[in-house]
Amino acid sequence: MGKITGFMEFQRQKESYLPADSRVKNYKEFILPLKNIEAKTEGARCMDCGTPFCMTGCPVNNIIPDWNHLVYSGNYREALETLHSTNNFPEFTGRICPAPCESACVLAINNDAVGIKSIEHFIIDKGWKNGWVLPQPAAFKTGKKVAVVGSGPAGLAAAQQLARVGHDVTVFEKNDRIGGLLRYGIPGFKMEKSHIDRRIEQMQAEGVQFRTSVLIGEDFPSNIINWTKKAISPKQLEQNFDAIILAGGAELPRDLPVPGRELKGIHFAMEFLPQQNQVDAGDKLNNQIMANGKHVVVIGGGDTGSDCVGTCNRHSAASLAQFELMPQPPEQEDKPLVWPYWPIKLRTSSSQEEGCDRDWAVATKRFEGKGGKVEKLIAARVQWIDGKMQEVPNSEFEMKADLVLLAMGFVSPVTQVLDAFAVDKDRRGNVKATTDGDGCYQTSVDKVFAAGDMRRGQSLVVWAIREGRQAARAADEFLMGASNLPR
Ligand SMILES: Cc1cc2nc3c(=O)[nH]c(=O)nc-3n(C[C@H](O)[C@H](O)[C@H](O)COP(=O)(O)OP(=O)(O)OC[C@H]3O[C@@H](n4cnc5c(N)ncnc54)[C@H](O)[C@@H]3O)c2cc1C
Ligand code: SF4
Repeated sequence: MGKITGFMEFQRQKESYLPADSRVKNYKEFILPLKNIEAKTEGARCMDCGTPFCMTGCPVNNIIPDWNHLVYSGNYREALETLHSTNNFPEFTGRICPAPCESACVLAINNDAVGIKSIEHFIIDKGWKNGWVLPQPAAFKTGKKVAVVGSGPAGLAAAQQLARVGHDVTVFEKNDRIGGLLRYGIPGFKMEKSHIDRRIEQMQAEGVQFRTSVLIGEDFPSNIINWTKKAISPKQLEQNFDAIILAGGAELPRDLPVPGRELKGIHFAMEFLPQQNQVDAGDKLNNQIMANGKHVVVIGGGDTGSDCVGTCNRHSAASLAQFELMPQPPEQEDKPLVWPYWPIKLRTSSSQEEGCDRDWAVATKRFEGKGGKVEKLIAARVQWIDGKMQEVPNSEFEMKADLVLLAMGFVSPVTQVLDAFAVDKDRRGNVKATTDGDGCYQTSVDKVFAAGDMRRGQSLVVWAIREGRQAARAADEFLMGASNLPR
């Protein structure tokens, strides 16, 4: 362990943020990583408590106490190797993971948790800066060909693992750039896209081929981003590859079918956010959905809604409100009751801190407008009794709105793609595949595997990385009879 008495001596070292008024002027990252001395001190706070609940809290089971100790002792390169042994892309998770590991930290029972995510961020940034993150091409080729459908974190993790054990891997992506929601969805101020580009270069050097603007399947809904120039049928893919991994995400957005939904100015978050990502990448758009000077209402209180808030603040919206259907959670969790699990408690994102009126237990009843354009939103307060929602009598109110962003989550993967592959679905419409035992990550169709949001439904980057890694192992075992890839 780091310093035996460190957890008693030192306060948590927090990453610092650029001030809100300066960071909202651009779309760049604003979190400043820990300095060497801060990382050492934070590493010293790890108690090496014997039963590292943090590792079970972390979906990729990062070996957290070991790299905390290595950072405390200044052994950064070994810390990086340990981190990479469980996580292909710590620069993604070190920036945007909600850090369930920290909720499970034993020190968190009566103190501030160890800043695990900030140490992860520190290690990987040091690794890239010092040129320690290098391609790891396979020592021999197996001659087996694997297709990965979708280039989000699940597809990328699967592709990297499979290439490193010698398979010929091709990643197919319907959009024009690689990265899935990391590229189009998550704003640059949370994670700059150069982090993805660096990994693509590394993976290309490891032999992975990337084919963008290629849709696997023929039919695709028009309200989901799709910049396909060419379509390939699942049948063709099955003929040309020895295994296929479906990692196409859960892109079907939840709609709000209330009167007035058809009015102009009401958009899904995923119509709005990717456009800003495109502009940040240097694309010229003729009709970008802009929030500048507008009264904006974001419907949905989660991560996606929060990203809309941050983007609208950078657009200089005239006013910005965010509604959530569920009641306001408590400011503090009941720790003895919930530890080491992820607690439900009031969280304020950095985007919300930048300015936004949040309101809870609000249901939107209809939109009204003139000339086909939305002008206001009519909502009512609700209460939840025995898990059932009831409108509070006489609580209806209206709010000026000339831009409404729907950020109420995602229902499932795109059904047409799953139907084209003829894979079985679970009751939520995700690809059906187990995560344990024989045949894990395998779908009902021979040699077709599934990982990430397409299998588990809307989730987190770290879960997508886990599933990509595990599906890669399952596919490797299927192809070779056994696998050296980690579980
Ligand atoms: C706005 C937003 C913000 C988020 N913020 C966070 C966050 O801060 N932290 C966090 O941990 N998680 C966050 N998430 C969730 C996280 O991004 C996802 O859980 C994760 O990206 C899922 O990874 P995936 O690889 O399964 O799928 P995705 O990232 O969705 O990638 C799937 C890719 O497959 C492609 N594709 C789909 N079908 C086909 C096809 N038929 N042919 C070819 N290509 C296809 C898609 O174009 C897409 O690029 C956020 C999600 C959203 C929407
Ligand atoms: S990936 Fe997420 S859960 Fe795992 S150690 Fe990093 S911040 Fe924690």
